[in-house]
Amino acid sequence: MYANSLVELDRAHLIHPVASWRGHEKAGVRLLASAKGATVTDATGRTLVDGFSGLWCVNAGYGHESIVEAASRQMRELPYATGYFGLGSEPAVRLAAALAERSPGDLNHVYFTLGGSDAIDSCVRFIRYYFNAKGEPDRDQFISLEQGYHGSSTVGAGLTALPAFHQGFGLPFPWQHKIASHYPYRNPAGTDDATVIATSVAALRTKVAEIGPERVAAFFAEPIQGSGGVIVPPRGWMKAMRDTCSQLGILFVADEVITGFGRTGPLFACAEDDVVPDLLTVAKGLTSGYVPMGAVFLTDHVYDTIADGAGRSAVGHGFTYSAHPVSAAVGLEVLRLYEEGGLLENGRVMGARLMDGLNSLRDHPLVGDVRGRGMLAAIELVTDKEMKTPLPAAADPSRRIFDRAWDNGLVVRAFAQGAIGYAPPLCCTPEEIDAIVDKTRRVLDLTLEDADVRAAMRQVSRYAV
Ligand code: PLP
Repeated sequence: MYANSLVELDRAHLIHPVASWRGHEKAGVRLLASAKGATVTDATGRTLVDGFSGLWCVNAGYGHESIVEAASRQMRELPYATGYFGLGSEPAVRLAAALAERSPGDLNHVYFTLGGSDAIDSCVRFIRYYFNAKGEPDRDQFISLEQGYHGSSTVGAGLTALPAFHQGFGLPFPWQHKIASHYPYRNPAGTDDATVIATSVAALRTKVAEIGPERVAAFFAEPIQGSGGVIVPPRGWMKAMRDTCSQLGILFVADEVITGFGRTGPLFACAEDDVVPDLLTVAKGLTSGYVPMGAVFLTDHVYDTIADGAGRSAVGHGFTYSAHPVSAAVGLEVLRLYEEGGLLENGRVMGARLMDGLNSLRDHPLVGDVRGRGMLAAIELVTDKEMKTPLPAAADPSRRIFDRAWDNGLVVRAFAQGAIGYAPPLCCTPEEIDAIVDKTRRVLDLTLEDADVRAAMRQVSRYAV
């Protein structure tokens, strides 16, 4: 009864992110009631393995008492402190220093936001200010990748390259340009690492030449494209793009909102790629989703150019909740758990187990590609492995596969193109990783029995004969 009335209240009043509003009214909300470790429990008492850490954010896993303690202690002592007027709080200062110490290269300056979208938005504002301060105000053009995701703010959604974020919103803006994704599995130029990297480098050079080399401000990229379908570039891709940006005199922004904080192994994926971006964004794993927080890191030269450009004037960018002390206290404790609590190490071991498990699914007739790094992975389903034919749109993969996994006690991300995404908490046990793989095989077997999928497979084999 209680859950039913909540479903009705949700229908009537709560707008859900990136949902078909009418579709959601029809389907109704699935309420989650509690969670511990890598297990979530819904309002009916069913338990599920959370193979997606909420929204790839609960990297530490659920139910850490020490995080709850850190937040409540801070709430009791000082629940809020503004960063305006030169004021501040101890946890925010300590977190900024701890992050600067651990970040690659000289990304020594941290601006805290509430999440990833406003981190990207802040980045765009800082970059515009930077070039104005440098006396290059015409550098106002931005480039990002097809299939990229950079949040949902008014400007960020135009750097994002997913159609739903553009249609009906008048986006992208004319100053927001795209180049093709590296997408190794489906790269038309070829799938070997060297070709994929060379093609992206050439595409960036061509795009900059087209726009005008003196007009381009920055290139944005995720170390692994998340919302586009967990698309993993070859090793060396980030470095090649970074170096190309340096040669072209444009800023390189690494969007680590998903890949940060142990998701791919280290605290920052860039570190593994031997890359120091000019600016770097994080969120999600920064507080492990327990409270909202994101951040933008600035290298010394970006910070100094803005600081000197502004001189005695204020740099007019700020949020009431920037550097929120409760979020910062949570961030410090989460960082301790990653490092001293062994979560990064466990994530590395479990990430290898996850990749082994998913690779064991390659023999399944529907599995065309398996890709990932650490605890961030995907399998891409096809009806013909040789032709790489995607599942038919009629199979509505994003809905049907999500529902099917859910019914089998597993939470995953099901992408529209028929890929299944995984981002389990770093605290997973070997048994939980194995359960994710076993349940996935069950989902694949059930999908293989769908009439529309079978028809698509028959059609493909008829053409092949
Ligand atoms: N950038 C990337 C790479 C993301 O994956 C996301 C969210 O998933 C964002 C930015 C936006 O973050 P948020 O949803 O916290 O606003």
